[in-house]
Amino acid sequence: MVSKLFSFEWRIKDDLFIYDEALQDMLPYHLPHKGIGQFLAEAEFMPDDDRKRFQKHLLFLLLYPFRQARRRRSQQILMRVLSPQGQMLYYRLTYALMIEDDGSRILHGTLQDITRYYRENAELKKSLQHDAMTGLYAKTYAPQIINQTLETDRECDRHHALLVLDIDHFKQVNDKLGHLIGDAVIIDLALALKMNFRPQDILGHIGGDEFVVFMPDADRSEVLARCDRLRNSMRRQLGHDDNEIKLTGSIGIAFAPEHGQDYETLFAHADSALYEAKRLGRDKQVIYYEEIEESSHTVDSSDRAALEYDELVEKPLDYIFRMVLHSDDTELSVRLLLEIFAKHFHVQRAYVFWNIDGSYWPRLLYEYKADPEDIGFRAHNPEVRRLMWHRYRRTPYGTFTECGDTTNLSPRTAGIFERAGIHAWMECAMMEGKEFLGGVGFDDKQGPHKWSKDEHKVLAAFANIMHRFLLGQIYFERTRSSGSIYL
Ligand code: GH3
Ligand code: MG
Repeated sequence: MVSKLFSFEWRIKDDLFIYDEALQDMLPYHLPHKGIGQFLAEAEFMPDDDRKRFQKHLLFLLLYPFRQARRRRSQQILMRVLSPQGQMLYYRLTYALMIEDDGSRILHGTLQDITRYYRENAELKKSLQHDAMTGLYAKTYAPQIINQTLETDRECDRHHALLVLDIDHFKQVNDKLGHLIGDAVIIDLALALKMNFRPQDILGHIGGDEFVVFMPDADRSEVLARCDRLRNSMRRQLGHDDNEIKLTGSIGIAFAPEHGQDYETLFAHADSALYEAKRLGRDKQVIYYEEIEESSHTVDSSDRAALEYDELVEKPLDYIFRMVLHSDDTELSVRLLLEIFAKHFHVQRAYVFWNIDGSYWPRLLYEYKADPEDIGFRAHNPEVRRLMWHRYRRTPYGTFTECGDTTNLSPRTAGIFERAGIHAWMECAMMEGKEFLGGVGFDDKQGPHKWSKDEHKVLAAFANIMHRFLLGQIYFERTRSSGSIYL
C-alpha cells in the first residue's frame, strides 16, 4: 500500500536541484533543475495553506544560522498537490539540511506518494465517524466533535443547545410491524433531522431510537420552533387495525453554558429533561431545570396531577414557590396548583381571593371547581363572608377559619351553607399585620371533612406564597403606572 521513496538533493549555493527520474514520474508537474525554490514558492498547484507553510520552510533553509539549522535535524511535511485533472494528490516530504566544509548548504530529502494510503485512511476514519444506518455522526464520534466546538467557542459569548431525541414506544413498531419497518422509521427520522436543522448543526445517532442534535449559536425561540416542527413531522400513524401505531417523539433540551459547558454534562441534563418529557405523557419537549432530577427518577406515570402529590406533601413550601415563581405563566400554574390540591385533598373547590384596594368585598382571583356548573359564589356572598370572618383563628401554621361539618352549625348558618352546597370548608388568611388582605380555601361539597395537619400545612404554605406573589404584583403594577420604583 505504501509506495516507494525517491531521493533528491538541492545544492542551494549553486541552485541546483538533482533528482531521480522516477521521482519526476510520480509528479504531474515537471520539476526544474534550476530555480526550484522559487518554483515551489510560487506553485499554484499547491493549496494556499500548504504553499505558505512551504515558504516558511524555504526561508528557514536559506537564512537560518547553521547551529540552529542543525538542531532541527530532519523535517517531515505533508505536501498536497492539485493535479491538472483536479484531483488532490498527497506526498510525504522528508528532508535534512547538511552543511559542507566550505559552509555551503545542501538539502537531502525523499519524496513519497501517499495518495492511496491517505485516501483509504480517510475513508476508514469517516466510516468510524459515521453511523452506517443513518449517515449521521456515530455514538463515539458525535461527543468528540461537539466537545471540540464547545472548547473552541468557550471565549465567545454564544449560546448553544443540545437536544436528545427518542421515539416514543418504539418497541411497538418492532413488535407489531417487524424490525425492517423499525429500521425504516429510524432512517426516516434521520432524514427528518437533516431537513429540520441547519447545516451547521451536528446530528448524531447514539443508539437504537435515540439521537442527539447540537445547535451552535442558537437562541431559545429558534430551538423551540425547530423542535415543534420536528415533533410535528414525527407525528404519524403506521399499520392498520390491531397493528395500528401512533408514532410520536420526545425531546430533552439543555443549553450551554447555563446547563453545562461540555458534552457529558449537557447530555446528562438533556437526557433527564427527555425523561421528564416521557413522564409528562410523551410527544413533548422539555428544557432542563434543576429540580427535574429530584422529582423524575422515581416516577413513571403519565397522570400529572397524581404524580405531584408525594412531593407536594413532602415539602409544600418549596414546591409551590417553585411552581408559581418559576413559571412563565403564573395564571396557569396557580390554576394547576389549585387543581392538584383539590384532587389530592378530595375537595371539590379550591380558590384564591384578594381584598383589592381595601374594598370590603374581596375579589375572586383564581378558582378550581370539580364541577363546572358549581356556582362557587361564596367569596361574593356577604352573608357567608361576614360569618367566616368571625370564625378566623390563629393556629401554629397561620390564621384559619374552618368547619368540618356545616350541619353542626346553628340552623340559620347551616341553612346558608346548605344553599351554597358546602358541607365543609377551610380557609387560610393572608394577613399584613392586622389587615386582612385575602385568603385561599377549600370547600368540600360532598360531605363532612376532617381537615388534616397536611391540609393545614399545604394551605398555609400556599397562602404564604400567594400573599408574597400578589403583593409583588401590586408593587410592580404601581411602579409601572407611576414610573417610580417607590411605593
Ligand atoms: P419510550 O417511549 O420509553 O422510549 O419507549 P420505547 O419503546 O421507544 O423504548 P426504548 O427507547 O427503550 O426502546 C428502544 C428499542 O429500540 C429497543 C430495541 O428493541 C429497539 N432497537 C434498538 N436498535 C434498533 C435498530 O437498529 N433497529 C430496530 N428496528 N430497532 C432497534
Ligand atoms: Mg424510545
